[in-house]
Amino acid sequence: MSLLAITGGTVVTEAGPIAADILVADGVITEITPSGAHTTALGGYDDASTAVIDATGLIVLPGGVDVHTHMDSPSGLGHTTDSHQSGTRAAAAGGTTTIVDFAPQRKGEPLPSLYERWSEKMSGQCAIDYSFHATISSWYPTITADMSSLVNDGVSSFKVYMAYKGAVMIDDRQLFEVLRASASQGSRVCIHAENGDVIDAVSQHLVDAGKTLPRYHKLARPADTEAEAVNRAIMIARLTDSAPYFVHLSTKRAVDHVQEARAEGLPIAAETCTHYLSLDDSVYDSDDFDVAKYVLTPPLRTREDQDRLWTALNDGDLSVVSSDHCPLCLVGQKDLGRHDFRDIPNGGPGVENRVLVTYSEGVAKGRLSLQKFAEVIATEPAKTFGLYPRKGAIRVGSDADLTLLDPNATTVVSAQTQVQNVDYNLWEGWAVRGSIHSVYSRGVLVGASGRHVGPHGHGRFIARKVRS
Ligand SMILES: [Zn+2]
Repeated sequence: MSLLAITGGTVVTEAGPIAADILVADGVITEITPSGAHTTALGGYDDASTAVIDATGLIVLPGGVDVHTHMDSPSGLGHTTDSHQSGTRAAAAGGTTTIVDFAPQRKGEPLPSLYERWSEKMSGQCAIDYSFHATISSWYPTITADMSSLVNDGVSSFKVYMAYKGAVMIDDRQLFEVLRASASQGSRVCIHAENGDVIDAVSQHLVDAGKTLPRYHKLARPADTEAEAVNRAIMIARLTDSAPYFVHLSTKRAVDHVQEARAEGLPIAAETCTHYLSLDDSVYDSDDFDVAKYVLTPPLRTREDQDRLWTALNDGDLSVVSSDHCPLCLVGQKDLGRHDFRDIPNGGPGVENRVLVTYSEGVAKGRLSLQKFAEVIATEPAKTFGLYPRKGAIRVGSDADLTLLDPNATTVVSAQTQVQNVDYNLWEGWAVRGSIHSVYSRGVLVGASGRHVGPHGHGRFIARKVRS
């Protein structure tokens, strides 16, 4: 039996932070005791078979759960630049121990084939445990019946787009059918909510007026195109008794719609992303092509929107912070859109930065308690997507997925030193509060001092449960 003891740290349990020691046997948490109590109860951890980690001065968090990543995914004319190997190594380095990736459906591809293809692709490659959502973007008559077969195989969530017409967008009838099927299965549907038709029209008008620079990406996707789609999807969800999950919410008015629906008792959940909490639309105020770094969707919003997102996290109307990691290089990929912002592949990197930037902007700045922070980066994403209690919490019987964070350190973010495979970083030059000291996946060290250190292909597929 392999034994690990992590002693003397501030352990963020579901009930709040406590001074405690954690004992791990064969990758599972077996005991959580008040700091120091073990010396009498177990005769100390000083026998040679137990590895003892002194976590004095460190915060011990449940390993991060990032439910929104796009690894090796088709985008523009190429693919996102992180493979499942490099992307999960970056996740491990940054304090995340489980990802739920998006598996993109090919045109006409039956969902069971998508399941096989993506399972094969991720198998043996990941540094941390993983699962994936199946994206529904190419309709066929028996698709909703095929959703059930994936749910039985442990893929209990799907993704649809209300934008990107002619590429991956589905129509309202299809949205209704997917939500209806999910309600009877207990599966979750992740919704990218933006009004694709209106965005296409606004974009065309901008280009017709000669406004082709990256800065116009912001104007092409007005806040109300998100709020309208969120509201429409809530109405359709209500007709089907389903429990949708809104990805990457960025605006005050969209959050207001979610809040109102939840107040009525609808089982709706929603996330925001690290970049909406920490960056704002002032980055678009330049004619520079480098602004293409921030061509991600939805665009960054106003300070007022940002304040609303923080409030909603504390109120529970937003319950998850994800990265929407979608790495695309400025050189060779984003520069395809040098003459028309519509040709810039949309997305930005962040799987490596999510935990620490959220800690620095949230906890260190007094916007989130330590407990709420652990909830939004680990516990709630695990609960929402059928991974809890195995993942997302420090409790007896859970996997020993643990992130040790040093609150007294500072980390300078830079593309030069990052693990994620992309030529820029959204927080370049930021000196963020805290550092990722070490990261354990099922008791195995996979991250140390912001680097990946674990064994190749350590990660396993986690079959996810349906909604109860
Ligand atoms: Zn995404």
